[in-house]
Amino acid sequence: MANLLRDRRTAADWATVGQVIEIAEKLSGFERLASVVEADLAALESDMIPAHWRDSLIVGRLEFGFADDKQQLPMVRCEATVTTDAVCQRCLEAFRLPLEVEARLLLLELEQTAEGYDDLEVWELEDKDLRPQDIVEELLIMALPFSAKHVDSASCKALYSEPREREEKTKPFAALRAQMTQDH
Ligand SMILES: [Zn+2]
Repeated sequence: MANLLRDRRTAADWATVGQVIEIAEKLSGFERLASVVEADLAALESDMIPAHWRDSLIVGRLEFGFADDKQQLPMVRCEATVTTDAVCQRCLEAFRLPLEVEARLLLLELEQTAEGYDDLEVWELEDKDLRPQDIVEELLIMALPFSAKHVDSASCKALYSEPREREEKTKPFAALRAQMTQDH
């Protein structure tokens, strides 16, 4: 069966049939996202790179429709989650980074505008045809943190191995308090 995620049709075509696409794909099928993750993991020694990072499962759903009653403005609801591998910028070890995106996008052509849809984000269509995967992929890439860090700080060696030393070095609240006293 053809994978609808990789089909190309106009936004109006997707919207007219109210296309719903269930997503359950390995990260390896999302080439741009995979190349971003790969570049991040390249900071690790090769034997430290998680063996199956390309197999992380992207799960979600796309639902096309129209934003307006006249069926002039195509839109799509997109939800997707993946737990990918990333390098913690604090301890420089690999960890599992959960990503979640949820968006309602108004699919507009370049230069096109629409008033009164402030609850939707505008998605500019660069080509006549739209490939649903590109939307999911770009949303996930945008959701990647600029500087990834262990979500659970107890797992982060940089924080956990020498807690006392760290505490001596950084006392953000003490510094803040000192500054506030000065201001008064
Ligand atoms: Zn860490």
